[in-house]
Amino acid sequence: MNKNKKYTAYCGLYCLDCIPSNKELFESLNELKILLEDIEFDKYAELKSKTNETFNDYSQFLDVLEEMKKLECTAVCTEGGCKEDCKIRECVKEKQYDGCWECDEFKDCELLDYLKGIHSIEHNLKMIKEYGVENWADKRGKHYNWL
Ligand code: SF4
Ligand code: SF4
Repeated sequence: MNKNKKYTAYCGLYCLDCIPSNKELFESLNELKILLEDIEFDKYAELKSKTNETFNDYSQFLDVLEEMKKLECTAVCTEGGCKEDCKIRECVKEKQYDGCWECDEFKDCELLDYLKGIHSIEHNLKMIKEYGVENWADKRGKHYNWL
């Protein structure tokens, strides 16, 4: 399958741009977790907390690490990745579209409002509509406003 098509989500996002699809990040988190366990860093943190109180929060750091690991997404949107019960995906499938770019309502669709507040959804959908799902990806907008 054409790469752009594979990674284009029903809503107009590009799956590879999402932090939860960042393989390098999750490999690093897993490696860090294993290393910290191997060297029993918890004991070292306890020792260090006597002179640096930041290390009192070491268990919170591990909680955050664990939650970060849970963010990993290994499937693309069209194969069930991202949100399990996504209303946008349900709607697109119900209307038998390839994606929201085929829908006349995408500019005003309330289902897309949340994503529009974070990502360049409207721009992306326009680009997909104009260039086609196989050729639009190099024209996509910023995924997050900081990346
Ligand atoms: S699951 Fe929904 S929000 Fe996530 S990428 Fe797919 S259509 Fe977009
Ligand atoms: S109404 Fe149209 S734009 Fe909104 S989610 Fe459904 S297909 Fe997408």
